[in-house]
Amino acid sequence: MSDKFDFHCHSIQSDGGLSPADLIDYALERNIQHLALTDHDCVSGLAIARSHIEENQLPISLIDGVELSAATEFGEIHVVGLAIDSANNRLQSALKIQQDQRKERAQQICLKLEKLGITGVLSKTLELATEVITRTHIACAIVELGHAKDMQQAFKKYIGKKGKVKVSQSWMPLIDAVGLIQGAGGKAVLAHPTRYPLTNRKLSLLIQVFKECGGDGIEMAYPSLNPDKMNWLKIHREQNDLLASSGSDFHFPGLKWTDLGRFPPLDTTIPHLKETII
Ligand code: AMP
Ligand code: MN
Ligand code: MN
Ligand code: MN
Repeated sequence: MSDKFDFHCHSIQSDGGLSPADLIDYALERNIQHLALTDHDCVSGLAIARSHIEENQLPISLIDGVELSAATEFGEIHVVGLAIDSANNRLQSALKIQQDQRKERAQQICLKLEKLGITGVLSKTLELATEVITRTHIACAIVELGHAKDMQQAFKKYIGKKGKVKVSQSWMPLIDAVGLIQGAGGKAVLAHPTRYPLTNRKLSLLIQVFKECGGDGIEMAYPSLNPDKMNWLKIHREQNDLLASSGSDFHFPGLKWTDLGRFPPLDTTIPHLKETII
């Protein structure tokens, strides 16, 4: 079981930089044999990627995935769904609701930006988005219109947690996110746990709540995770009897610190979701 895999990445159907077909080609260049495409609140990239694989008989297995934004008492979190049936009706309806809310949120954010004298962001954002509208598209629009030097600055100044523009969002509750993924036959994974702005005490409570909601796994290997944090996660994974998952959360090629298929290795003794999925 030493196949190369990646269980978390994005395409242009949400906020990634590659089309689903180009993502598959990029994965093959990196010798990845098992790839889960996990776009934000959207599954439309899966059929496109799968057609590309089948038409060209490519040696890669695509795992149907999704990354759901969910509301918890600890704030917004992300739940990755792996090996889902992406045609599941309940999942499809819930995704439509999240996508509509994303459109509404984009409108509200852009209205607030207009009040700050930054005009034209909504139409630029809609131009940049393929399927799902994310804050990444809004950040790119702000940069393209010359109001920030790069995306980081657009988040910092305007649309990030501490930015000038605040819009609340009513994502589905965590219990629904886990239920939808499992109802569609998949495994629910707590995404990039150390990236939420939580103290260790709150994060350990979040992991417990995730387990109580029926969660299956927890990401424990992703870029930016230092060995201390990984050790902390190992303890909490074990205490909550969750399976480990690994993924790059790849969005764009060309970044020095991250790439598709690149994340820290985990000891083979740690029970991993790949044993049940690959
Ligand atoms: P959304 O789901 O629409 O709120 O957008 C969140 C996405 O924006 C995340 O999945 C990241 O890809 C991206 N993002 C969030 N914060 C930052 C940041 N500070 N710099 C760059 N990208 C970010
Ligand atoms: Mn993203
Ligand atoms: Mn995420
Ligand atoms: Mn992601």
